[in-house]
Amino acid sequence: MSQVRTRFAPSPTGYMHIGNLRTCLYEYLIARVNKGTFVLRIEDTDQERYVEGAMDAVFNTLALTGIGFDEGPGKEGDCGPYIQSQRRDIYKKYAEELVKKGHAYYCFCTKERLESLKGGDENLGAALNYDRHCRYLSQEEIEANLAAGKPYVIRQKMPTEGTTTFTDLVYGDITVDNKTLDDQVLLKSDGLPTYNFANVVDDHLMRITHVVRGNEYLSSTPKYNLLYQAFGWDIPTYIHCPPIMKDAHQKLSKRNGDASFLDLVEKGYLVEAILNYIALLGWSPAGNEEFFTLKELEEKFTLDGLSKSPAIFDIEKLRWMNGEYIRRMSPEDFRKAADKWLREGLGEKLSADEKVMSKVAALVQQRSVILSDIPERIGFLKDLPEYDTAIYCHKKMKTDEAISLSALKLCIPYLSSYSGPWASAELYGALCGLAGSSGLKNSQILWPVRTALSGLEVSPGGATELMELLGKEETLRRIEKGIELLETN
Ligand code: GLU
Repeated sequence: MSQVRTRFAPSPTGYMHIGNLRTCLYEYLIARVNKGTFVLRIEDTDQERYVEGAMDAVFNTLALTGIGFDEGPGKEGDCGPYIQSQRRDIYKKYAEELVKKGHAYYCFCTKERLESLKGGDENLGAALNYDRHCRYLSQEEIEANLAAGKPYVIRQKMPTEGTTTFTDLVYGDITVDNKTLDDQVLLKSDGLPTYNFANVVDDHLMRITHVVRGNEYLSSTPKYNLLYQAFGWDIPTYIHCPPIMKDAHQKLSKRNGDASFLDLVEKGYLVEAILNYIALLGWSPAGNEEFFTLKELEEKFTLDGLSKSPAIFDIEKLRWMNGEYIRRMSPEDFRKAADKWLREGLGEKLSADEKVMSKVAALVQQRSVILSDIPERIGFLKDLPEYDTAIYCHKKMKTDEAISLSALKLCIPYLSSYSGPWASAELYGALCGLAGSSGLKNSQILWPVRTALSGLEVSPGGATELMELLGKEETLRRIEKGIELLETN
């Protein structure tokens, strides 16, 4: 078998949709499992749909995910250039070659004429948009029009009878009636190719062996095959993927913000978790394992695990997976991944202290589901929230507001004169000692202190962990504040 070459061919017409990323990932994995080559090609021939910044989104996404391409813009191989707008002459040459071979023709119809055909001509088949007027021009008419400098497009000459069959790896054999195929435009009047033409020429010239794309392209594939045949080129292996659905009825759409990869990252999902989850949207691994790093996927991905049933993008499942990824990270990796969110939650002063940053990271790692949960959970360290003294009452901890008040009052002189290390373990011993010598249970000191320091019913970290993080001065200030609130209540 010839060397496997796959390509990701995004059009810079918007952000990187989850569906695009899945296509990209599968193309990449097929190349990697087969020790082949993965090509990045930018399909920017539709100038009207060009969106500023969309190309950056592609490059950023690839850089973030670690999906590296072997050939593409900035990584020239022997098939470049890899940006379609820089390949104009190539498409023109091939379109003209098809005209010479009798598989395509010049069409001089004006916009107005084409407009007038829409829905008007009963001789047109239901699926046909063009009545093939120029297909039957004489050689003299064509030459006269060309000499007169009339603008033209080049159209594919579809067979008028018979059928075209192709095999898709996921959907099986598909046959269409040739008479339903439109004489589609290959080269536009501005000299640029249509997507339908450029992808065939480029896939051939770039020696692409496997084409993965969304199933919305299934209906165009017979037209592509007729082009391959007209040129006498080998047809690649087609792998069409089912749509990614929001629910049983609706496709995941651009209107739904969750459909964008970079938005998910912004929202605090880990790149590795998103990638893992996307890999499973349409592909089932051989065993029961669901967790795969990109490296593992590069070894385990199999074409026969692809399915044609639509995949539902289940945000709850992604959240779950993300939480699992967070728990499985090393403390150092989590600290790095959470950096931005820790800073946001702690504010400038606290986050300037690396020790505080890593300690807080350790406190929140186990219970975080997505990274963006972090700022809210740790914001109390920056600013003590307003709170109701009712949170001092806790049955299991055997405290109420009165007990808490006396416990906090004991803490002030005790901690003011405390000269041991201001570290959680030592402080814990010290506070338990204080409890013992005052006839209180440990919890009757620890719970009120934790509450006074956090102002929350539930906080990441216990009393002495928070004391260590906040430092002596702030600890005393918050305990004083607690006393004041409990006294005025
Ligand atoms: N440029 C097309 C798109 O972004 C690519 C489709 C294909 O992979 O052939 O939808």
